[in-house]
Amino acid sequence: MADFFATPVEFIKGVGPERAQLLKKELGLATYNDLLHFFPFRYEDRTRFYTIAELHEDLPAVQVAARITSWEVVGHKRKQRLVAQATDDTGTLELVWFKGLSWVQKNLQRGAEYILFGKPGRYGRKLTMAHPELSIATPAQAEARYLQPVYPSTETLKRKYLDNKAMMRIMRDLLKKALPQIHDPLPPALLQELNLLPAAKAYRHIHFPENENLLKQARFRLKFEELFYIQLQLLQLKETRLTRYKGQVFKDTSLLTRFYNEHLPFELTNAQKRVIREIYHDMKSGRQMNRLLQGDVGSGKTIVAFICMLLVISEGAQAALMAPTEILATQHYQGLKPYAEAMGLQIALLTGSTKASERKALHTALEAGHLHILVGTHALLEERVRFRQLGLAIVDEQHRFGVAQRAKLWRKNKEVFPHVLVMTATPIPRTLAMTLYGDLDVSVIDELPAGRKPIKTLHYYDANRLKVNAFLKKQIDQGRQVYIVYPLIEESEKSDLKDLMDGYESVCRAFPEYHVSIVHGKMKPEAKQFEMERFVKGQTQIMVATTVIEVGVDVPNATVMVIENAERFGLAQLHQLRGRVGRGAQQSYCILMSSFKLTSEARTRLETMVRTTNGFEIADTDLKLRGPGDLMGTQQSGLLDLKIADLARDGAILQLAREEARKLLQADPQLARPEHTLLRQTLDKKAAAGIRWSSIS
Ligand code: ADP
Ligand code: MG
Repeated sequence: MADFFATPVEFIKGVGPERAQLLKKELGLATYNDLLHFFPFRYEDRTRFYTIAELHEDLPAVQVAARITSWEVVGHKRKQRLVAQATDDTGTLELVWFKGLSWVQKNLQRGAEYILFGKPGRYGRKLTMAHPELSIATPAQAEARYLQPVYPSTETLKRKYLDNKAMMRIMRDLLKKALPQIHDPLPPALLQELNLLPAAKAYRHIHFPENENLLKQARFRLKFEELFYIQLQLLQLKETRLTRYKGQVFKDTSLLTRFYNEHLPFELTNAQKRVIREIYHDMKSGRQMNRLLQGDVGSGKTIVAFICMLLVISEGAQAALMAPTEILATQHYQGLKPYAEAMGLQIALLTGSTKASERKALHTALEAGHLHILVGTHALLEERVRFRQLGLAIVDEQHRFGVAQRAKLWRKNKEVFPHVLVMTATPIPRTLAMTLYGDLDVSVIDELPAGRKPIKTLHYYDANRLKVNAFLKKQIDQGRQVYIVYPLIEESEKSDLKDLMDGYESVCRAFPEYHVSIVHGKMKPEAKQFEMERFVKGQTQIMVATTVIEVGVDVPNATVMVIENAERFGLAQLHQLRGRVGRGAQQSYCILMSSFKLTSEARTRLETMVRTTNGFEIADTDLKLRGPGDLMGTQQSGLLDLKIADLARDGAILQLAREEARKLLQADPQLARPEHTLLRQTLDKKAAAGIRWSSIS
């Protein structure tokens, strides 16, 4: 009965072609299947009736059975309202309407028993209920006790009388038709093991829960199922890669050894060594590597990337590094260049602003194999950019590339895919990593280079500026340097630029004995460069800047990061900014300045920063505050089109889904067993309909 669920919604009772159009346009609901998965976003408690004596203004919307005894219109013109008295055996409640007076009035019946639903309030000494839902009580209704679903809707739908009540009628009819057609795709053994509600029952109680407990079970089952499919797909994808695609074999370590012996500027941390071993193991295995490298700001990913590049260059292949912005690409290029030059290797930068003549030379050198390392932006993905042999593609993405773009890069080699290393600077919460990168192996640099002291983070209100200035002076007198960062969300925003310039002037006034640099996005590149260099060389002691310094500078002598209007920054950005200090052996500080008035969310952000320097903890909090969609950007939205599971809250269910998916595929890799047939068909349908997982491989 695969086609049953593809039936257009117009065949539901009371829908028809016109309403079907509306549902499609406003909510994207076209088929029975869409409707079935259109879940309520909350439920109203109709499990009990309140007496009027029990009502008070702290209750949510509740249900009351009462008689309407009288009503009148009071007030004049725009202040007009309809006031009605409702009573039961225990007291009186005043009902109020500000809109649709005549329509309501026409429908009121004196003395009739009504079921009212609304939020109780208080006006002076009177109990009130504004715009209650009203219906004449029928014996059946008085008996029906349930949690009433509330569906997402739009203004247009309400105007066209497709309100929540209409939606409920639609859902009732849908369920009547659909429930008997539902065959549970989850294998019986799994249902039993996890004590999950069967599919039909779960759909019934997600739409019309009989009670809280069944609702909870329905939610759990559907969340689990949603995440389980994703995990199955990711794990199968991974398996396919491992078995179907051969990897280039790189085992020559001669360049690496030379670099270690002659040029390595410091002892690698154990975490760096471990990660390099993991990557080397992949590269010589004959299988194609797809690995995610996570490492906090300052954990030393650049050198790891370079060493891995050496492994492929040793055998005559080339390496590429792609970053999401020009600034980041340039920074990577500058970070890698000294190492490459020390080893006598050719490295180049390719971005949107690379000149045509340079570009041409670069293309030629790349195709001839003279160029060993190419760093750049999306420009790398252009057709004309051809490698002689791309051995390793590194993607530094910070959430900004979609899976599809990653895929493009690894198609750069015709016969054999390059090894792929995805680097992320911002730690990704485990739940997100498992969903977005669940097909990748993971390496983590969970250790900062030795000698780094954890950064101390303090939060001050603007009123304490003198105290902060005194502290800065003490630091500078000890020979340290200081960043003062202003938010400039939009570099074009005039008021922000003014804040920055005012700030600059007051810093100059407060520290007349020191030199102050200023850098912002409106400056010419040469001027920016000049100011940056003065700071890097220690000619200036204070750098006043916008977030342009979030990436790009590495000054170990700078020990204080002051962030102005810190409440305006997101957590990830605060964490990135803080990562600019704490790079030397001295104790470093991050000072968050804010006004006294803070939203509770802003307060949580600042408190989180003060409490921890752990990037993963910060990322988790960020996820909880902002929700996953925001974190990932729009490119990922296709991937994260979750109907019911919430990555910020359902980490435990995700973990369970991953584990169960792994166990299942281990036992039956092709899902060939009869009890897995439905599951396999469901996955195939998903693959055909939505996420084109196949295009990734
Ligand atoms: P990120 O992971 O943020 O990209 P970088 O690779 O830029 O970090 O490294 C941050 C700083 O730490 C750089 O100045 C780098 O030279 C230095 N560094 C990296 N690894 C080590 C190490 N093992 N010991 C000492 N310093 C290191
Ligand atoms: Mg870096």
